[in-house]
Amino acid sequence: MAKPELMDFYVILFSHYGPRHWWPAETPFEVIIGAILTQNTNWKNVEKAIDNLKSEGCLDIRKIVEIRKERLEEMIRSSGFYKQKAERLQNFCRFVLNEYGSLEEMFHENTDKIRKDMLDLKGIGHETADSILLYAGGLPFFVIDEYTRRIFRRIGFRVNENYEDIRKLFEKNIPKDVGIYKEYHALIVELAKEFCRKKPLCFDCPLRNICKNNSVV
Ligand code: SF4
Repeated sequence: MAKPELMDFYVILFSHYGPRHWWPAETPFEVIIGAILTQNTNWKNVEKAIDNLKSEGCLDIRKIVEIRKERLEEMIRSSGFYKQKAERLQNFCRFVLNEYGSLEEMFHENTDKIRKDMLDLKGIGHETADSILLYAGGLPFFVIDEYTRRIFRRIGFRVNENYEDIRKLFEKNIPKDVGIYKEYHALIVELAKEFCRKKPLCFDCPLRNICKNNSVV
């Protein structure tokens, strides 16, 4: 059998799970808040923090900049590392307003420039920057995370630690389509949580027939 292509995995996952409707947020700004708060914590903790920000009317880029840092810290405490994250949120929002004037303006700029500018900010790594570009900006940057590395290493791809190498591998081998990028990353997360865990549950995994590491075979 020919080696399966990256799109083969997408097709199987999509037909197994259906659309994931990612990212779970009502606005691009909420995506950004979530992308920064989700670093080193689980989504449940992020949801609590976002709910607090919502109920205090603080899901607004200017409000985040103007609010006292201590108050912001309290609102996002559930997300862990809250002092650091409050600083990162305020820095990010200040950067957008100072450099671009608004989020909308930012996403109309040259995409490589936005990405580089974001990566220069403290605490914004590749995964966070690309999540923001893809899910908040609707721009074609494939998001790589630890789940992606784990699954595709097991499946049989040569996946090294270099973020850009893996991103390029995906971007070269799947159609440049924001909808597919969004869906594919969401499907990877779903698979990693349900089956391809640290200890994989290969028996019922939808990829078991084409995965090199299927521990059932
Ligand atoms: S078959 Fe096993 S190792 Fe392969 S993707 Fe599924 S859970 Fe992971």
